[in-house]
Amino acid sequence: MLASRPHIPIERIIKPQSLAIIGASEDIGKFGGRFMHNVVRHGYAGTLLPINPGRKTILGRRCYPNIGAAPGPIDVALVAVPATQLRQTIEDCGAAGVGACVVITAQLGEFNEAGAALQDEIVQVAASHGMRLVGPNCLGMICSTHALALTSSPTLQYAETLPLGSVGFVSQSGALMGALFVLGHDHGVGFSSMITVGNQADLELADFFEALIEDDETNVICLYIEALKTPRRFVELAQRAKARGKRVLAVKAGRTEAGSAAARSHTASLAGSYEAFETVCDEVGVLLMDEPEAMILAAGVLARAPRMGPGGIGMVVSSGGGGAVTADRLTVAGLPLAQWTEATHVRLDTHFPRTHQNNPVDLGAHFGALGPHIFKHAMEAVADDADTAAFIYIMTPQPLMPQTVDAVIDIWKRGTKPTIFVLDTSRFGEEVRQMLLQSGMPYLTRIDDAMRVLELLVRERDHGSATAHATAARPQGAGPLPHSLPAGFLTEPEAKDLFRHYGIATTRERTVRTAQDAVKAAEAIGYPVVAKGVSRSIVHKSDLGLVRLGLSDADAVTQAFDDIARSLIAAGETGEPAIAIQEMVRGQAELIVGARYDEGFGPQVMVGFGGVMVEVLRDVRLASAPLDSDRAKALLRKLKLWPILDGVRGRPKLDVDAVADTLVRLSWLASDLGPRMQDLEINPLIVRVAGQGAVAVDGRGTVIETS
Ligand code: ADP
Ligand code: MG
Repeated sequence: MLASRPHIPIERIIKPQSLAIIGASEDIGKFGGRFMHNVVRHGYAGTLLPINPGRKTILGRRCYPNIGAAPGPIDVALVAVPATQLRQTIEDCGAAGVGACVVITAQLGEFNEAGAALQDEIVQVAASHGMRLVGPNCLGMICSTHALALTSSPTLQYAETLPLGSVGFVSQSGALMGALFVLGHDHGVGFSSMITVGNQADLELADFFEALIEDDETNVICLYIEALKTPRRFVELAQRAKARGKRVLAVKAGRTEAGSAAARSHTASLAGSYEAFETVCDEVGVLLMDEPEAMILAAGVLARAPRMGPGGIGMVVSSGGGGAVTADRLTVAGLPLAQWTEATHVRLDTHFPRTHQNNPVDLGAHFGALGPHIFKHAMEAVADDADTAAFIYIMTPQPLMPQTVDAVIDIWKRGTKPTIFVLDTSRFGEEVRQMLLQSGMPYLTRIDDAMRVLELLVRERDHGSATAHATAARPQGAGPLPHSLPAGFLTEPEAKDLFRHYGIATTRERTVRTAQDAVKAAEAIGYPVVAKGVSRSIVHKSDLGLVRLGLSDADAVTQAFDDIARSLIAAGETGEPAIAIQEMVRGQAELIVGARYDEGFGPQVMVGFGGVMVEVLRDVRLASAPLDSDRAKALLRKLKLWPILDGVRGRPKLDVDAVADTLVRLSWLASDLGPRMQDLEINPLIVRVAGQGAVAVDGRGTVIETS
């Protein structure tokens, strides 16, 4: 037993010195055959050890009858055997001292219980030998910098060479790797390594993410994620990548699994696990995208692009129409267009009338005879403009295509500003496509993809120094938690009590059980008042007639008390009715302020425009808790309806400080409660004009029973 053997380093699994292929074959119809062909074809330079008891040689390589007979040390063994032979094969590899097995065999943990049991078993067998596992149910890896194509993907037969570059990719989907490899290949995207992790039974996505952060040959890391095994580690690694200046792009499946309609609060339905992930990505600077293909294409451009400086997008086009549409779309997407300086206009004057010196510059609008120098001159003027932070050229079928491409490549080669080439020519562009591939300049074919890259560049620039999870200072009077916590689904008075412990302004109120006491309470609080039924089981009170607003005298209070008492009974409440009499708060806007505990990432807060329309508006923002007032305000400024808080069209500015303070205080309550809190919600927080505060008029939450 070699249990104390040190584990093989991950980088050595990606770049093995020796590689065994179990079940190797010459038959391309077999898994073991396709792996052999791809590995041999792409010139793997380490020691290749085909394993097959029935053969002496395979593709000219000496073949061994079993892994034990092959000369060691063996870094990696590729295992693509049927499930029935899997356990024994792993055992044999472990006994032979193999560093790691890359297990292709599928229908294990992802398939059924028997498969899951077998998967657990092989993890244990491997661990007992100090051997690592990649997969099972993975499709291997491609390490271009190591000339290793350890995959059965047919797309590797199409490729003459492995396109070398600095984009690294880790994927939970096996099939995606082959598809994205060829897509990248077609668009001039060079890869360092691509790794599929399958079921992550032992090694997981984060292990390879970490290896790519440490890998000098990788500078952009792409992740395709289905479920994170270790979310907190992901956050740490993302921060490390950022500190090293490496860009991280991610696509995560499961977006639509977010909160169900049956959620016990708006917060739960608006802030599901995808939103939690999105929030964290935003905070740590991971560029989250919605499509793997777009991610790889963007990564190709970003791998060769500096960060974007101040200014806007400088655009040159060969078609006025396409350019105008793109300019519109950039504006709609909030991507700033550069404003030409006078110096640029003077340069453009040589060939273009002032009336046609817009952004984008349409090359077709020049005067005088056609000549390549005109195009080059215009592009350089735009690229050099002090307000151009990123340069984009959109090529449609046009005259002088090769010369134009050369001019763009020259600009790109300067490396001073992000430069994007959109080759919108379909088959017509084959000659220039080859020129681009030769030059190493990545290119895009869809304006959509260019928009995405520009959006990422701007997002990255705006992200700046935002420091997530930094230690925020606890405001005075925020906590501590009361000694005895209510548990379960909290009633409104219970939730508000908890909020008051954290210094959140709530309504003055009293819970009563008789109409006489209701009137007394109303007189003590001062008319007009609000009466509400108190219940541990009702989520939306007003839907059930349990909220009466603007009660201005004793008669109205008595009447409301009786009505609500009846409604409580109708809603299934038994025993003496509990009714809250509270001050009637007036203000200018109603916000929702909530918190939710995410299984993976911990407590997060949410703020947005509230009321009954909250799910329809979906104008909410999330942040990890706790947060400070500056981050809280930054969150508010990102709301679509921010102008309402900021005072629009002669309306007064509202008390943004008070809203931010409420959010901060709730964030401390949420983080003090930690996993005991499922969610907390103030809906609405009524906001008054600046200087006059904000008041929580409704409260709810779910606190998990602790023993
Ligand atoms: P629920 O959300 O359970 O239906 P709320 O307590 O939020 O019940 O009451 C419904 C609406 O009534 C609120 O969105 C708010 O507009 C208004 N409201 C509730 N309480 C008050 C109050 N104390 N002062 C002013 N308006 C209130
Ligand atoms: Mg409410």
